[in-house]
Amino acid sequence: MTALPPLRDVIARHGLSANKALGQNFLLDSQLLDKIARVPGLSPGDTVYEVGPGPGGLTRALLGAGAKVVAVERDERCIAALDELDPLFPNMLTVIEGDAIKVDEREIGADDGHIVANLPYNVGTALLVRWLTLESWPPWWRSLTLMFQEEVAQRIVAKPSTPAYGRLSVLAQWRSAAEIAVKVHRSAFVPPPKVMSAVVHIKPSAAPANVSAATIGALTQAAFGKRRKMLRQSLKTLPHAIDALEETQIDPTRRAETLSVADFVALAAVIEARS
Ligand code: SAM
Repeated sequence: MTALPPLRDVIARHGLSANKALGQNFLLDSQLLDKIARVPGLSPGDTVYEVGPGPGGLTRALLGAGAKVVAVERDERCIAALDELDPLFPNMLTVIEGDAIKVDEREIGADDGHIVANLPYNVGTALLVRWLTLESWPPWWRSLTLMFQEEVAQRIVAKPSTPAYGRLSVLAQWRSAAEIAVKVHRSAFVPPPKVMSAVVHIKPSAAPANVSAATIGALTQAAFGKRRKMLRQSLKTLPHAIDALEETQIDPTRRAETLSVADFVALAAVIEARS
């Protein structure tokens, strides 16, 4: 790692002034980056899929941990900077210039890998929902280690009857375990964002039988789409949902935020059985 030029030099040499539209807030502190790279518990040779490597700070930490990294970066200015890592980590890094929203991760070699990313805020939640709502489970990824705005991170790990509990909490917890692994002060980024951040670690667990991601997705969307309403109102137009409330003996005057993740799974199972 000593042969690597400082990230500040890389940024200056390649003219990587932060582009707000691309959600660019770079991390330069190698100790913090190593700490994040340790979260998934990588073994040498493991594959990591990284979205948005930027100038490559996290990429360096992951390569330093012995991982093979497949990275997708939308900003063409970063590609030459990332190519400089190749001689130091031969055959360990594949960089693809592209939009992570449009990429088929398995086609580019990310299959069976850990996903580790300091995500661009504008696409972070969309990518998370996509990775959490795959029908095939266990998923193609082994774990997710993702930086979010702290407020989003709190929503992912929230428990019922708390203000942050919502759709993201249920999607992240009905067949996965989610926890906040590292809190990151805004001053750690260049430039610093307005809010604090946190790294969330998510590991897949056993999926409940007879419940599809599509049904959980539709149910949570209806329930939390109108989170202040009673369930009998918010679930009114979702087929079989009112019958499911009756069959599971969940009081239809309750609000979505009071239901446990297990309650959502029970409702989804009845909806699915009746569909
Ligand atoms: N990983 C670097 C770090 O930790 O310093 C950069 C993180 S920065 C928050 C987000 C990165 O994602 C930027 O490099 C940005 O160009 C890239 N990016 C933004 N939108 C993207 C997209 N749709 N697909 C791939 N990369 C994207």
